[in-house]
Amino acid sequence: MRFRRSRKPNQRSHPMTYAQKVLADVKAKNPNEPEFIQAVTEVLGTLEPVLKARKKYEDAGVLERLVEPERVIMFRVPWTDDAGKLHVNRGYRVQYNSAIGPYKGGLRFDSTVNLSVLKFLGFEQVFKNSLTTLPMGGGKGGSDFNPKGRSDAEVMRFCQSFMTELYRHIGPDTDVPAGDMNVGGREIGYLFGQYKRIVNEFTGVLTGKGLSFGGSLIRPEATGYGDVYFAANMLATKGDTLEGKVCSISGSGNVAQYAAQKLVQLGAKPVTFSDRSGWIFVKDGMSQDFIDEVKELKQVKRGELSEFAKGKKGVEFHKDGRPWAVPVDCAFPCARQNELDGKDADTLLKNGVKVVGEGANMPSTLEAVDKFVKAKILYSPGKASNAGGVATSGLEMSQNSERLSWSAAEVDEKLKGIMKAIHDNAYEAAKAFGKKGNYVAGANIAGFVKVADAMVAQGYV
Ligand code: NDP
Repeated sequence: MRFRRSRKPNQRSHPMTYAQKVLADVKAKNPNEPEFIQAVTEVLGTLEPVLKARKKYEDAGVLERLVEPERVIMFRVPWTDDAGKLHVNRGYRVQYNSAIGPYKGGLRFDSTVNLSVLKFLGFEQVFKNSLTTLPMGGGKGGSDFNPKGRSDAEVMRFCQSFMTELYRHIGPDTDVPAGDMNVGGREIGYLFGQYKRIVNEFTGVLTGKGLSFGGSLIRPEATGYGDVYFAANMLATKGDTLEGKVCSISGSGNVAQYAAQKLVQLGAKPVTFSDRSGWIFVKDGMSQDFIDEVKELKQVKRGELSEFAKGKKGVEFHKDGRPWAVPVDCAFPCARQNELDGKDADTLLKNGVKVVGEGANMPSTLEAVDKFVKAKILYSPGKASNAGGVATSGLEMSQNSERLSWSAAEVDEKLKGIMKAIHDNAYEAAKAFGKKGNYVAGANIAGFVKVADAMVAQGYV
């Protein structure tokens, strides 16, 4: 049986590969979704060797199905501010692919959220979740609501309204959302409370929950820690370690804070953080106390680095530019998509960077990725190196199902093991398909194969 694809009459006459044809179709069908097109371009561009070696994927139309979300839910979220004024935001859940498990992926609340951003994140999540070795499909959701500057009561009313629609589409065996940008413990708590109230069931429907109601130890730390563990695994292939390495980090939120913390624990020297107000340079390296102050700034006071840096000894604040100007051994982009472009990559490479370990999703532009791969530095794409967060969410789901909780040491040990497995899978897949040392190709191929095989086995659904 062969899957039939629709052909356009004006298709280019010289033969395109299977992946190129599907990519052309994605571009034609989604012209207003640049982030989504970028993510698909990156992935499909690296799958050629496996698609050529295994024709069954083309015969079963795996790519055509993989690029199309199984379901996209969009809904109105009305809520009132503290003055009683009505606001209406847009809510989304993109249920991308459930071939290997229930949809799993975070919720992002930010004014920049739109369908293109959530489709890119959902698409990436499919491969990331597959790489974790846990049985999780891919999804992503959120809203163009930004909790910054809103009171706790306003955030609660928003979360309650958001969940009043979302609850009917999710469930512990269907779709299990988690946090992402601007969705931390507070938001997950409000969302969980409303879900439980409507459904009248205490289940593991969300991850990133508070410890007293089913959360897992180490979940808040997991993405940043995992990013650093991945970098340590890459360095180990060269007989090197993180000890003494000078490191730049962008962002100062959840992922950035715990990446810095783990770097300090491993004897490295993190020197930068950034946020929407600018970036800071701490010449002598951050201490644990300094990182704790940043945690309080971001998690409790919800303030900006520009104010925080004022009068602090040894801390330079820069309103303009990006942390990538600082000469470092290792760089960890942990803020947002497309925050490191071709020029930044040139600067980092000129300054002798050895490792770029992405904590954020798609922080490097396609041009920057290309430069890192060509320079043959140790570069890990976010879908591999930031998978520790969702992996630990998977561990939270297991603990919820079994109604037990593991110690911090147990979870951290499992996280370390999972990051090593992800690293080794990506490394070996790249080697097997003639791309040794290319973690972009390795992560995409390893993540793809498991999902693709499941899709072939399950027929045309
Ligand atoms: P947070 O909201 O906790 O932190 C985001 C950080 O990025 C903040 O410091 C924020 O600054 C900064 N930032 C956001 N937009 C901009 C901008 N336009 N210019 C400069 N700085 C900006 O999010 P997370 O740490 O959770 O997520 C960071 C990245 O990691 C995202 O790409 C996310 O998808 C990815 N990720 C997160 C996981 C998790 O477990 N949390 C799991 C896997 C990936 P400010 O403080 O001013 O808002």
